[in-house]
Amino acid sequence: MSVYQDRARLTRLWEAELAAFRAARPESARLHRAAEEVMPGGVPMLWMEKWPGPWPVYVTEAKGARFRCADGIDHVDLCLGDTGAMVGHAPEASVRAIAERLAQGSTFMLPTEDAAAAAHELAGRFGLERWQFTLSATDANRHVLRYARLVTGRPKVVVIDYSYHGTVDEAYATLDADGRVIPRRGNIGPPVDPALTTIVVPFNDVPAMRAALATGEVAAVLVEPAMTNIGIVLPEPDWHEGVARACRDAGSYLVIDETHTLCAGPGGMTARDGLRPDAVVVGKTIAGGVPAGAWGMTTTFADAVRAKLDPDGEGLEDIDVGGVGGTLAGNAVSMAGIRATLAEVLTPEVYPGMIARAAEWTAGVQAAIDEFGVPWQVTQLGCRAEYSFRPTPPRDGREAAEADDFALQQYLHLHSLNRGILVTPFHNMALMSPATTSADVERHTVAFREAVASLFG
Ligand code: PMP
Repeated sequence: MSVYQDRARLTRLWEAELAAFRAARPESARLHRAAEEVMPGGVPMLWMEKWPGPWPVYVTEAKGARFRCADGIDHVDLCLGDTGAMVGHAPEASVRAIAERLAQGSTFMLPTEDAAAAAHELAGRFGLERWQFTLSATDANRHVLRYARLVTGRPKVVVIDYSYHGTVDEAYATLDADGRVIPRRGNIGPPVDPALTTIVVPFNDVPAMRAALATGEVAAVLVEPAMTNIGIVLPEPDWHEGVARACRDAGSYLVIDETHTLCAGPGGMTARDGLRPDAVVVGKTIAGGVPAGAWGMTTTFADAVRAKLDPDGEGLEDIDVGGVGGTLAGNAVSMAGIRATLAEVLTPEVYPGMIARAAEWTAGVQAAIDEFGVPWQVTQLGCRAEYSFRPTPPRDGREAAEADDFALQQYLHLHSLNRGILVTPFHNMALMSPATTSADVERHTVAFREAVASLFG
């Protein structure tokens, strides 16, 4: 359902941007042709095909909020690896710690001192006492759901309609028109019908959450504190308290996924808003550029897991890899990366600047919306902001999804890419790193106004 009616104009504009892209990016084209011989779509992971334009831009080097491509074009990076590089590209303290660790050996099946330091830092930020480490936020989510099932003996998890938590089987489900759980569009080969594993609840719907938990089947509720993967959807005032109370009443674990909402503050929205989950998941940017994920638990939750794995306190026989693990999880390089990045890069002191840049970006987008009377809205969450093609902020994932207009979005993204600005694909999101400047933001403001003028002027 699109509010943009002039499709002929959109097609004309799109074709002009495509021609400009082709003309400016011959070296990326050459690299892509060579890559197509050995990788489906010419990319190391299929979703990397999903950029606007006939081939992806090939990166050569990046620092802070900038990257240079194979065609020598300098870009402002507002995508920042979809939060993987929220701390900025190649932050010095992280690179130093990672390189030093790498030179001294990276993976042993044994811990290094950095692990406890990283866990202390995370515990201080999120208020959860016990931490475990993975290579991705996906794995952290997967593992904490397993722990919740183990402890409760219950089969199901609750996720929010149109949420995203990585490639977690239980989580890629939605509701059909009759309110039944079905696989989300694009769910590739689900192992079982998600209706067997999952109850889906709309965001901001406390009665639906209570009804889901009243089944007594729910091991864990997995939620982002604000939705960030279908545009930004902010929680209404009673939502988090309602979810927490419903979980407590039902004896289900509350798991808050802060992978993206770490944009809201050093301890995510959990710390900012005083939320009290049983577990928290983080990942992406925490190790400054090398793969790492983590989940934190209350002592009560961690002890309950331990009691199940080792009921008589005598043996380690079952503390192994039955669904939770990974040989490189907790490796020394990830641990050094997390320790240095949290202590020296993504410190509490850098947040006010990042959040101020996001406010400037939001004001720039709002100014163009107002000038041309466009029925779009923009929402800020910490150092992240996003616009969508509807006049008011969405209340839940379905409302956000219904405002989608893929062709319009592709045009806006290509328009900005052709002006040296990378916006996060799949939606209209911008993220600010500690290195992002007001001048970087202004470049977007100018280009965005030009794009809106081309559509509505
Ligand atoms: N949780 C959230 C909220 C996410 O947005 C994502 C990825 N976009 C993940 C988890 C998974 O992260 P990864 O793909 O790095 O495992």
